[in-house]
Amino acid sequence: MRQFLLLSLAMVFAFSACQSPQKTETSVENPFFSKYDTPFNVPPFEQIKPEHYMPAIDKAMAEHKAEVDAIINNTEAPSFENTIVALDEAGKMLSEVMSVYYSLKSAHGTEGIMAIASEVGKKMSAHGDDISLNPALFERVKAVYEQKDALTLTGEQQMLLKDTYKGFVRSGVSLEEDEKVELRKINSRLSELYNSFSTNVLKETNNFKLVIENKADLAGLPESSVIGAAETANEMGMEGKWVFTTQKPSMLPFLSYADKRDLREQLYKGYFMRGNNGNEFDNKLIIEEIVNLRVKKANLLGYNNYADYVLEERMANTTDKVYGLLEELWARAIPVAKKELADMQKIIDREKGGFELASWDWWYYAEKVRQEKYNLDENEVRPYFELNNVRDGSFAVATKLWGLQFEEITTEFPKPHADAQVFKVTEADGTHKGILYMDWHPRATKKQGAWCGVFRKQHRENGDNVPPVVTIVCNFSKPVGDKPALLSFDEASTLFHEFGHGLHQLLSDCNYKGLAGTSVPRDFVELPSQVMENWAGDAEVMKEYARHYKTGEVIPDELVEKLKNSAHFNQGFATTEYLAAALLDMNYHTQTKEQKLDVNKFEEDYLAGIGLMPEIISRYKSTYFMHIFASSGYTAGYYSYIWSAVLDADAFEAFKETSLYDQATATSFRKNILERGGTVEAMEMYKNFRGREPKIEALLRQRGLD
Ligand SMILES: [Zn+2]
Repeated sequence: MRQFLLLSLAMVFAFSACQSPQKTETSVENPFFSKYDTPFNVPPFEQIKPEHYMPAIDKAMAEHKAEVDAIINNTEAPSFENTIVALDEAGKMLSEVMSVYYSLKSAHGTEGIMAIASEVGKKMSAHGDDISLNPALFERVKAVYEQKDALTLTGEQQMLLKDTYKGFVRSGVSLEEDEKVELRKINSRLSELYNSFSTNVLKETNNFKLVIENKADLAGLPESSVIGAAETANEMGMEGKWVFTTQKPSMLPFLSYADKRDLREQLYKGYFMRGNNGNEFDNKLIIEEIVNLRVKKANLLGYNNYADYVLEERMANTTDKVYGLLEELWARAIPVAKKELADMQKIIDREKGGFELASWDWWYYAEKVRQEKYNLDENEVRPYFELNNVRDGSFAVATKLWGLQFEEITTEFPKPHADAQVFKVTEADGTHKGILYMDWHPRATKKQGAWCGVFRKQHRENGDNVPPVVTIVCNFSKPVGDKPALLSFDEASTLFHEFGHGLHQLLSDCNYKGLAGTSVPRDFVELPSQVMENWAGDAEVMKEYARHYKTGEVIPDELVEKLKNSAHFNQGFATTEYLAAALLDMNYHTQTKEQKLDVNKFEEDYLAGIGLMPEIISRYKSTYFMHIFASSGYTAGYYSYIWSAVLDADAFEAFKETSLYDQATATSFRKNILERGGTVEAMEMYKNFRGREPKIEALLRQRGLD
């Protein structure tokens, strides 16, 4: 379950009534104003200053508007080329500027970048609406769409035509004028609320610290965790103390190993109360307004609720299908989670703990079960998952499957952040495929989670291929003391996951930006990423990349066996906490009326009503559920991970049925899925690869829920 940020600007055809930039000194030197003088045409990151964004955005929007006006005012009859393709090609500068802005806002949101976020959001919303609600432009698009059967278009062109046409309709172009005014207001307000929500989460994450002064309070913690906490304290000017934060690499080891129960409680509460503290960063009223505005928007566009509006374009298509899958899995996961809970309570009782397990105890006792039942200690595993080894392991899989080569660029090269690594990716025959940035560790300016985005999508310009510039951003465990970054197995899987999204961009072989790379339905986009996790966890593959960071010794068979045996460990919990969040998302977005919303009560009543036990907290509580409230990205879409999991488990079995690196299967996966972007319907792509529709059984087996 990894957060994934799509930076595609496919939906942002737009223009605005902004003024052209004034000729100030800043604008003259603005690196966005001239062709990048950089290798592989990557953005000249080091030259871009926060003050360059606003003038560049204004200029790019004006350019985009002029391009759109030229399409509208074209005296020739509307054609696929002069309207649909022209629209896809328009807004090039805006894509360039916004991809840098959005990407850095998430990965390195400095004060200068955050200060203009609200203004940028509003401008982009207005610009998007100016284009997608423009009746004259729509008339031309519609004219082409209506001739679609008479035109001789390729399948890819038919998809672009259909997507463009539907994009306008779904944006509300056919509404009455007063309704359009209303809709624009809603969109603008939503963009503002998303920004506030996300800023609040970042502030609340950075504000909470568990400061430990007494060494005895560190009892149970592994050495790396203690050293890491001392280093964090030093960075914060608290020498001699230990600081734990709600960042996962700091929090999870604490929850898993700290013997002091009251301190685990403090830290976990610090995490799950984010945005719910009744202070200036509280997100409850923001959520209420977002949910109600989405109902209003859906109703305005003729839908019963917001989920219906969203799902129309997804593989799942209807709320019934989504609930069908989530409820089937829920019914299987809850009994497994209850069994896990009972096992842990037994340990507490045996140790004469004298208390009932609470949510902040889950990791601690689960770890005990893992050690007892599977004799597996995570700290025994980490030395074999050194970050660079895992990264090279993911590269090696791509080399074996598709011949791809990865060469690190260690000379001076523009980078989005000094800590990022950069790689040149080529085919086996040396053909350039793209640039890949990888930025690994947490910092105060970075959002939580892990994601993959692009600074440029693959596409063709006048027939010439334009290779993509891809970025992967994570929040993995840092090097501690004299040790390099040693990952947990979960982090290693996440690395393979994000790399899978990266491959989806790097292998894209499409003509049009609007369809390239990860421009696929949200519930299909996790297939290429999640399928890679299967290689990360495969014994054969692990023996190739999991080497001890000091001795180079290959991970012992015994440890691989333990990892394999414990594959079903805690899956009841993992599946339940995920499904709770996915169902909560659906419940918010199947509301059909605007209402007074008490967010805490809404969440508690609903989750208790469907049988979530109090010992498990939803993977995201509402007040920091970034996937659904920090943008429209995964709204009525958090279910996508499990929907895609059905696909990825079933897809990986195609390899297992032959062999892990079977060339015919690999080529078919590449040709039918990774290269195709959104040029073919998702289910068609899947069937072209698998020869049939996906089946759920592989997933159930994988999670021990069968
Ligand atoms: Zn993902």
